[in-house]
Amino acid sequence: LVSRKRKAEDTIVDINGQKIGTGTPTFIYGPCSVESYTQVAEVAAAIQSKGLKLIRGGAYKPRTSPYDFQGLGLEGLKILKQISKEFGLSTISEIVTPGHLDEALEYIDVVQIGARNMQNFELLKAVGSINKPVLLKRGMAATLDEFIHAAEYIMSQGNDQIILCERGIRTYERATRNTLDISAVPILKQETHLPVFVDVTHSTGRRDILLPAAKAALAIGADGVMAEVHPDPAVALSDAAQQMNLQQFDEFYESLQNFLKTHEVH
Ligand code: PEP
Ligand code: MN
Repeated sequence: LVSRKRKAEDTIVDINGQKIGTGTPTFIYGPCSVESYTQVAEVAAAIQSKGLKLIRGGAYKPRTSPYDFQGLGLEGLKILKQISKEFGLSTISEIVTPGHLDEALEYIDVVQIGARNMQNFELLKAVGSINKPVLLKRGMAATLDEFIHAAEYIMSQGNDQIILCERGIRTYERATRNTLDISAVPILKQETHLPVFVDVTHSTGRRDILLPAAKAALAIGADGVMAEVHPDPAVALSDAAQQMNLQQFDEFYESLQNFLKTHEVH
């Protein structure tokens, strides 16, 4: 169902009127984790001031260590709902189990399936029968064929509103947190009719190369870019080393806008 051979035209994902996959790149910014109302509100104000419409923030955090911050859970989703109303932004947040899904749908606009759950088939089937868009991240050790099949699981249940997101894969290279598989973008665009995003934060894990990674993503045909922004990354409860602060976000945003003005990206 996700194959280009089945459907030649691009699927457009509609997030409350914000269309993804039309040829004009879209951006998803926001903190790694929802930590407090004020923390998210500061980022939301910056996003809103740029005329952007989407914000991300994790409430259920899949952390490597059980002793690390696990996210605010439902409380975090309620904060996102509040932010959405106040700032007029659509919200994206990760759900890690089908058990949280029904409840979550009252609070968020897009359900993110994280890299660690890309082959959680029950979760994939569950988001396949909701009527909200799904942002599906590539598993850190998943082949593109496995990634595409994960999207197929979702679509097999009727939901075609799927955004694929390359977020880096695990290789022997340690200079970056993961290795950004940039060639995944044109391959996924050729093989499927779904919009493709690149998460430059988790793929590189390095603030200093977010901008060139984002330019590369847009130049190679990505439908959008995701990156993490935190008012004070040094005290962030997750991913402190890689999130941009608000000033870095301004600079990143401006540079990317200039890049888009001077380059043909589609
Ligand atoms: C995230 O986007 O917050 C996240 C945990 O990313 P990933 O699933 O790609 O590691
Ligand atoms: Mn993160």
